[in-house]
Amino acid sequence: MDTFAMDNYETHEHDVLVIGAGGAGLRAAIEASAAGVSVGLVCKSLLGKAHTVMAEGGIAAALANVDARDNWKVHFADTMRGGQYVNNWRMAQLHAQEAPARVRELEAWGAVFDRTRDGRILQRNFGGHKYPRLAHVGDRTGLEMIRTLQDHGIHQGMSVYMECTIIRLLKDGDRVCGAFGYYRERGRFVLFKAKAVVLATGGIGRAYKVTSNSWEYTGDGHSLAYHAGAELIDMEFIQFHPTGMVWPPSVRGILVTEGVRGEGGCLRNNKGERFMFGDIPPNYKTQTADNEEEGFLYVLGEKFQGKDARRPPELLTRDHVARCIVREVKQGRGSPHGGVFLELESFAHWMKQRNPSFNAAEHWKKKLPSMYHQFKELGNVDITKQPMEVGPTTHYVMGGVRVDSDTQMSSRVPGLFACGECAAGINGANRLGGNSLSDLLVLGKRAGEFAAKYAKEHPAGQVHNDQVEEAARWALHFIDQPEGDENPYKVQHDLQDMMQDLVGIVRKEDEMVRALGGIGQLWERARRVRAVGNREYNPGWHTCMDLHNLLTVSEAVTRAAIERKESRGGQFRDDYPRKDTPQYGKVNTVVWKGPDGRMQFRWERIPEMPAELKEVIVEQNDGKLPEELA
Ligand SMILES: Cc1cc2nc3c(=O)[nH]c(=O)nc-3n(C[C@H](O)[C@H](O)[C@H](O)COP(=O)(O)OP(=O)(O)OC[C@H]3O[C@@H](n4cnc5c(N)ncnc54)[C@H](O)[C@@H]3O)c2cc1C
Repeated sequence: MDTFAMDNYETHEHDVLVIGAGGAGLRAAIEASAAGVSVGLVCKSLLGKAHTVMAEGGIAAALANVDARDNWKVHFADTMRGGQYVNNWRMAQLHAQEAPARVRELEAWGAVFDRTRDGRILQRNFGGHKYPRLAHVGDRTGLEMIRTLQDHGIHQGMSVYMECTIIRLLKDGDRVCGAFGYYRERGRFVLFKAKAVVLATGGIGRAYKVTSNSWEYTGDGHSLAYHAGAELIDMEFIQFHPTGMVWPPSVRGILVTEGVRGEGGCLRNNKGERFMFGDIPPNYKTQTADNEEEGFLYVLGEKFQGKDARRPPELLTRDHVARCIVREVKQGRGSPHGGVFLELESFAHWMKQRNPSFNAAEHWKKKLPSMYHQFKELGNVDITKQPMEVGPTTHYVMGGVRVDSDTQMSSRVPGLFACGECAAGINGANRLGGNSLSDLLVLGKRAGEFAAKYAKEHPAGQVHNDQVEEAARWALHFIDQPEGDENPYKVQHDLQDMMQDLVGIVRKEDEMVRALGGIGQLWERARRVRAVGNREYNPGWHTCMDLHNLLTVSEAVTRAAIERKESRGGQFRDDYPRKDTPQYGKVNTVVWKGPDGRMQFRWERIPEMPAELKEVIVEQNDGKLPEELA
């Protein structure tokens, strides 16, 4: 018998297979199970360890518990403005409308949120959100979200396959019919037959050297979808979070939540200047405080000169704050280790003047417990007394699998759904903090619902032995391949360095063209990587396979970034520093795999926004319709 034949492998059959057990995957799996179909849930790590667990600041939803003026329209307009109007407006609408119900549902399933004095879910300020909108649990919101979804999910009767990495989607004609992978511990292969597959594999941060993302973020879902024939959109838009740790080197990139700035943290350069006051973009001018007093009053939700206080400039969108930090460092005003200072002292001092009994240490430990421990343990810094050193870190990818806004099904591969960070559309050029966790709940639920519907309406496809065999042979050829002369870690390291340097926060045509050439060479080297040892407990072997995903997404980012010859949101071009709305304000980038196996590119026009949504935008935008929507 052929040892590669699919009958040799452990095989499971489900109506819906969900790949990824973060917030999006769990929420999709719960919904599909609730629809009465059989659900398999696969994840690379242990259940409960997905990257979502690291989310800190909160879940954005217009519950209006802290500010009664908040509603879905304001949230929708904030999301569109943050995304610089190249978002999928329908997704942004559904997200803003449905997020409050999804958060209340989470509460009903047992999530313990921080509370207002009258017992409602407490909401905090975050960048780009007009009102306090982030439902949170201290700075450990992701942990609570995962715990709740996981507890609720396992009681639905789904089958969970942990420490299992999917390396191929299987197809019957155009449609998806299953997936093939291996267990990380022993290296045994496993075959899943499924009527519908939901990708919820998270982001791509590990393509960069400095990142807040966990080891799992190697762009697997993006790459699996791409190689199965799906399209990826908006891949040029990478979010560099302004505040990651910069010191010591071993922790560089670890996130410092925006919640620190939401609670009054100030950014300063080495001259002590609060430099963000000097660079407020015109489209945020009317919403942003122009003095310290007003900024601090905003944190407390109070009035300034009789009017509601406006937010401090530290809470401008992440793309902008990150670039301002890069500028300070480049112009010699940075901190000793190449960042800037983020300090809580000024707010504490101001509070003490208003209320002499204000206890800063107690306050910050309660509001930001994880940050307190993170800096104490990893950096020997007491944030209640000392400034933090922070700088930008690769955080989130706005681009991803192109899906239908209502169902989350891929535009090109029937039966393939995607949600969470590996899908795209809702965030446009830049994501607002807090909008990811609510995206996972809202669009994760939709993906599960429509995947179950698809599974009920379609018979199972035929799994073809040749596809399984090819995947198994490919995976195994890395182990001790005789012509293998490359170390997988070295190739990964070189890719990360190159992406960081040439396709990072500030981009230029010639550098990105160089990166594209470099990616070509790295593809060559990746074909010659060799894993020493056997299949058991072999992270070197896993890295050989991860490279395929990392290179695919890096190429997609670079190609799309070269084509968009303007600066917008997560894409900043030194050679085209302005927005070019007439040319690029109404289009998304699309890449897909051509018949010759090469990456193809095209522009896709964003459908016209309906008049009633334009009215909402005008209402929330000082009576003006942005040029992108005109
Ligand atoms: C430090 C940090 C703090 C953040 N804070 C916030 C916040 O406060 N609010 C907010 O809205 N957003 C926040 N974000 C962003 C947000 O956490 C993520 O965007 C979100 O959690 C992604 O969820 P997901 O379900 O898409 O993916 P994940 O939670 O990453 O889950 C991915 C899953 O896919 C699995 N997987 C991946 N590849 C494979 C494969 N090949 N085979 C099988 N399984 C696979 C993984 O094992 C994992 O289970 C933060 C991000 C970071 C890094």
